[in-house]
Amino acid sequence: MKRTDYISWDEYFMGIALLSAMRSKDNNSQVGACIVSPENKILSLGYNGMPIGCNDDDMPWEREGDDLNTKYMYVCHSELNAILNSPHNDLTGARMYVTLFPCNECAKAIIQSGIKELIYLSDKYHDTHASIASRRMFNMTGVKYRAYQPTGREIHLEV
Ligand SMILES: [Zn+2]
Repeated sequence: MKRTDYISWDEYFMGIALLSAMRSKDNNSQVGACIVSPENKILSLGYNGMPIGCNDDDMPWEREGDDLNTKYMYVCHSELNAILNSPHNDLTGARMYVTLFPCNECAKAIIQSGIKELIYLSDKYHDTHASIASRRMFNMTGVKYRAYQPTGREIHLEV
């Protein structure tokens, strides 16, 4: 008889998104994303970080102050990294697991890439304009989104 307590696809891929988030150098926000084909094959991974070639030690990680000296000008979000760094050209019909509901900029990239379903963990910015705009675009374009249901077997990460 086979094992019965193996993890589900959702647990597996959200687990990998959580593990990816642990690579982030950001003190305040660690986000991970995992893109999966309809056949449950991993197509790409990402976490929030500075653009390739921008030295992490020379870049600002602050959240406040002169905007040129905040991280917001520079950091690539996990979703954008997962899309842009994918070795696969075509993400049509794929789904994305992400540890935090996407901002509007990432929502645009998700839609343009052809990803059709989003599974997210935290939705702590639900009421911000960024999240509202994301949902508006997903609803218009038919990108499905649903909250991941934790099972208690996940890697622990503050998100
Ligand atoms: Zn984003």
